[in-house]
Amino acid sequence: MKPSAPITQDVMTFPRKLETTGKINLVGLSRDGMRQALIESGTPEKQAKMRTGQIWQWIYQWGVRDFDKMTNLSKAFRAQLEESFEIRIPEVVSKQVSTDGTRKYLVRINGGHEVEVVYIPEENRGTLCISSQVGCTLTCSFCHTGTQKLVRNLTADEIVGQVMMARDDLDEWPKSGTVTGAPRLLSNIVLMGMGEPLYNFENVRDAMKIVMDPEGIQLGRRRITLSTSGIVPEIHRTAEEIGCLLAVSFHATNDETRDILVPINKKWNIEALLEALREYPKVSNSERITFEYVMLHGVNDTDEDAHRLVELLEGIPAKVNLIPFNEWPGSAYKRSSNNRIRAFSSILMNAGYASPIRATRGEDIMAACGQLKSATERERKSRKQIEAEAARR
Ligand code: SAH
Ligand code: SF4
Repeated sequence: MKPSAPITQDVMTFPRKLETTGKINLVGLSRDGMRQALIESGTPEKQAKMRTGQIWQWIYQWGVRDFDKMTNLSKAFRAQLEESFEIRIPEVVSKQVSTDGTRKYLVRINGGHEVEVVYIPEENRGTLCISSQVGCTLTCSFCHTGTQKLVRNLTADEIVGQVMMARDDLDEWPKSGTVTGAPRLLSNIVLMGMGEPLYNFENVRDAMKIVMDPEGIQLGRRRITLSTSGIVPEIHRTAEEIGCLLAVSFHATNDETRDILVPINKKWNIEALLEALREYPKVSNSERITFEYVMLHGVNDTDEDAHRLVELLEGIPAKVNLIPFNEWPGSAYKRSSNNRIRAFSSILMNAGYASPIRATRGEDIMAACGQLKSATERERKSRKQIEAEAARR
């Protein structure tokens, strides 16, 4: 095992307050939804479309959360908005910064549940890894999130709110009058945090539509990658209704092994999954599908596996991301050696597939792939352990 880097450089804790205001949150509503909400609260129907456009820009283009700062709206209208609506995003509970610059946020959503969001800075770009569920109903045997019981699906506002929260923290809302040609700090989004996004399809779709909207955050559909464990019936819809890039947690080259690593394989096996994937690039008019492959020592990492993978990929525009297994407390697997991972990668490369080895980021703060699990859950576990220890005494 790699020695871990020094623990956390910087931990900020914010006041924990959660109020129920009884107001409607404008964040997460589609343009149509916002228009309807405005009409219902008394905005004349004729004006509603224009007002929606104005409020939309304030929220998603300028990052404004205070109605009073929406200076192209009349004072009376601003007061009316204040009465019926709020602009609320998840609250940051804590932020940790890794020695490599990776930031991990713990954010509190409605009802007090918490999810993790990770920002990974790279040269000339930055990727935000967002969550779609609290925990996960699936139980992939190598994944830490999979050991956490699902509490619930995130709503669209809680999903787009993670992106807004990160832009706040990066101080990346445009300032009026300044035009910069610098690359964006938050330039890409991956739905690879906690949860299975395709088991929360509508909310994920609605949130991504807002993120892609040209009059707001403006991230193109090719800057968003959705990762799924293989929920076959939703793959076609993802292509049609979101059109983002797709990554699939493949991880094994025969059903016997995949049944254990990714148990949803018992419902939709490798053949069914590959069939759905073959259609994806055509429907979404996108390039390659990313096959994620976690490297587990002695489980799925032989040369034979690599050759079998090449055969399976035949006819699919693909790249393979090899992910060195990230260990977590109590995990049953070991990471393949670097030599093994390189050998595996060169078989794929010789067959013409790009097969980068994913750099592990933020490991010292447990922010790496598959290590996410909400802190409340960890606390609960450790409390249980403490009680058990006390009982033994
Ligand atoms: N539920 C979705 C997205 C979240 S997981 C999915 O399964 O695709 C994001 C990626 O991290 C997936 O490829 C997942 O298989 C991988 N992963 C999970 N646990 C891991 C671990 N401990 N080490 C390395 N990668 C892991
Ligand atoms: Fe859920 Fe993805 Fe983890 Fe599997 S790998 S348990 S689908 S989060």
